[in-house]
Amino acid sequence: SSTHDIVIIGGGAGGIATAASLLKRRPLLDIAIVEPQTEHYYQPGWTMVGGGVFDAPVTCRPMASVMPERAHWIRRAAASFQPEANRVTLDDGSTIEYKLLVVAPGIRLAWEQIKGLEEALGRNGVTSNYRYDLAPYTWELVRNLKSGRAIFSQPPMPIKCAGAPQKAMYLSCDAWAERGVLDAIDVEFRNAGGVLFGVEAYVPALMDYVARYGIDLKLQQKLVAVDGEAKTATFETIEGAETVSFDMLHAVPPQVAPDFLARSSLAQADSGFVEVDKHTLQHLRFANVFGLGDAASTPNAKTAAAARKQAPIVAVNALAVLDGRKPSALYDGYGSCPLTVERGRIVLAEFGYDGKLLPSFPRWLIDGTKPHRLSWLLKSEALPWIYWNGMLKGHEWLVKPKEAA
Ligand code: FAD
Repeated sequence: SSTHDIVIIGGGAGGIATAASLLKRRPLLDIAIVEPQTEHYYQPGWTMVGGGVFDAPVTCRPMASVMPERAHWIRRAAASFQPEANRVTLDDGSTIEYKLLVVAPGIRLAWEQIKGLEEALGRNGVTSNYRYDLAPYTWELVRNLKSGRAIFSQPPMPIKCAGAPQKAMYLSCDAWAERGVLDAIDVEFRNAGGVLFGVEAYVPALMDYVARYGIDLKLQQKLVAVDGEAKTATFETIEGAETVSFDMLHAVPPQVAPDFLARSSLAQADSGFVEVDKHTLQHLRFANVFGLGDAASTPNAKTAAAARKQAPIVAVNALAVLDGRKPSALYDGYGSCPLTVERGRIVLAEFGYDGKLLPSFPRWLIDGTKPHRLSWLLKSEALPWIYWNGMLKGHEWLVKPKEAA
């Protein structure tokens, strides 16, 4: 068993950004990051891969290259938590101890909850931008489709990047319109939820695109089964089960807390996510535990943009706790969802708790509720660069935490 000042579970967007932020503030901290994968992904780029804008490899870098130099990388998966003993057990049975723990293992894609989906993916016109290896297949399908029915599904909340299922659809429609085949394709958006997008201010702009592309919008429709060979999808609707044929299906899986977290004493009873205060990100029962990113119980939009704001909050508050003080930095629930409504224009949703709009730019520059060319440049050029060179390196442009008095 080894001991560290801080142990971080997960080397994704939230985990790496937190480690970098902590080391910027206190270079001599002994930090261990538990992360089993050898690749780190910029997942927000997968929408662009599916839309034929990015090549997949630009969204992937070796994990070793994003690990902060002074952090210890433990290439294992965490298997269980023993917070009473300040201990984490890894998948090989070994243990590590900490003074302070940060939990950021992301959210689990529960493909298995849709019958037949896993076997169907990557063939027979069934795809998903939610997987690195499948996002290029989305673009392949879009390029080749000339007529027929294209279905885009969205599972119940919570999911990461709630706008991603419709982003895939708009970019597909834009490509079909460009090629002059959109009229020959029946496009359906089948959403398990009851609204097109959760924050009302952005809905009118999105509805304009739904109308422009002639999309058939179907709400409260949950994808429950896929038959790849027969090219049919079954949805649970208020009127009962409905099976429809498709030529292309972009499916988004239901998403759940990682199992090892959900069954631990750190979990929130109903959701299974790590149960933290929504402002300080400190655990509600264990003062030396913090949580952030998609695995946190906080009711924000689960996005890398949220993790970018949360990481410095966790860093400031974790150091306070290590120093015997109370957490003072407060997270406002910021999350962002750049909705790619067409190639070259984006509706830039930015909002915090209770749907409060939190725009990063003055309205005269970018009105987030309207499609905008500058927002497209932000998504296609600026944000990937900010992710790799700012967020993952502990540079906190635009996200300096506000500290309570
Ligand atoms: P992740 O980045 O997923 O990292 C979790 C890490 O934990 C992984 O490296 C994993 O290997 C590791 N891990 C898992 N289990 C264990 C374990 N047992 N032990 C140790 N480590 C473990 N966000 C935006 O801001 N804007 C967007 O436009 C956007 N678009 C998206 C489009 C798509 C298609 C997808 C899939 C996501 C999108 N997101 C977007 C969401 C964004 O990618 C996530 O919100 C963000 O990556 C969350 O960071 P995280 O660190 O919580 O989780």
